[in-house]
Amino acid sequence: SDPQILTVDLGARSYDIQVGHGLLEANPAFQAVAKGRSVAIVSDSNVDPLYGHQVELLLAPVAHQVVRIVVPAGESSKCWEQLDAIHDRMLEAHLDRKSLVVALGGGVVGDLAGFAAASFQRGIDFVQVPTSLLAQVDSSVGGKTGINHRRGKNMVGAFHQPRLVVADTGVLRTLPPRELAAGLAEVIKHGAIADRTYLEQVAADMPALLACDPDALARAILVSMRIKAGVVAADEREAGVRAHLNFGHTFGHAVEVGAGYGKWLHGEAVAAGMVMAADLSVRLGRMPATDMAVLVQAIEAAGLPVKAPQWPVDDYLRYMSIDKKADRGTPVFVVLDGLGKAATTRADEALVREVIATHLG
Ligand code: NAD
Ligand code: ZN
Repeated sequence: SDPQILTVDLGARSYDIQVGHGLLEANPAFQAVAKGRSVAIVSDSNVDPLYGHQVELLLAPVAHQVVRIVVPAGESSKCWEQLDAIHDRMLEAHLDRKSLVVALGGGVVGDLAGFAAASFQRGIDFVQVPTSLLAQVDSSVGGKTGINHRRGKNMVGAFHQPRLVVADTGVLRTLPPRELAAGLAEVIKHGAIADRTYLEQVAADMPALLACDPDALARAILVSMRIKAGVVAADEREAGVRAHLNFGHTFGHAVEVGAGYGKWLHGEAVAAGMVMAADLSVRLGRMPATDMAVLVQAIEAAGLPVKAPQWPVDDYLRYMSIDKKADRGTPVFVVLDGLGKAATTRADEALVREVIATHLG
């Protein structure tokens, strides 16, 4: 069926986001981008066996050649060794400046393959084919690409916008339920920072979303993408409003770091972090407690955590001040001026301590 199309408006570098079903079976717009080019489909060891062949079948009739490159699934593949291995395969297959990278996978593959495209021969085109919900509502749009460094996550990377984003809701059927719920955290976040009605709709649709109902998913992905695309178009390099997308992420980051990456999924940590950030907003007198209750209810309905681990509050503060999003050591918090409207602020350490202590358990 025909996809819904959104455009990320970035002047000459504008690109379309397709949201729909069956987009890996027939897709003239995707084929047009690949036409006559050498294509490297980069995927991971979970996703390639499921969808790699399908994407190859779609592009091979129009492409000059198609190579498939598979990295091990998991965050640890966002590293120099895998980046180097991808470039090695690309050079071996004689890919050049006119070639195309297709990132087929979740956020790990999107970030890694996107950076492989950004850095190959000073930058070549790439297409995002996000296959996790998190990637379909968040990471595939916005052009942030990169890998991790042993001293920190996402420490090496580049802004490199894709040529096209192909979000096929059908692939979410094979996504593990825990990963689906984690993606819903970013959906809830988009509602919280930009659109109260959307958040209420998502909360009402939660049973359908968790059951992978294609219509409910397509609706949520489309609105989420529209919110993210709007923010990115307004502030591509995160000088201002793009920071609002970090709602819940300063607190959440502390949970991720403290637990050791992978113990808590990113979306789970963000969920608990959003509760803290909402509480901070309430305590700063910027949001009514009833709004916070709506947000908490949506998070619980998704089966996501609302409490963070019982660690000393000092540990949380330490993890937050090393956050790269921190400005000169003092963490900047994204808060809500009521559900649907975000702002950034600094906050007193004492207040932050109180907020954290309230939501451990
Ligand atoms: P992921 O890419 O590791 O995917 C999660 C798991 O689901 C993996 O095991 C993967 O193999 C599997 N999977 C993906 N799609 C599947 C499918 N359709 N069927 C079956 N299994 C499937 O993790 P993620 O949550 O998608 O992304 C997290 C990454 O995204 C992090 O590295 C984070 O830093 C990054 N991220 C980037 C941005 C950005 O703007 N660039 C934004 C948010 C997050
Ligand atoms: Zn996030």
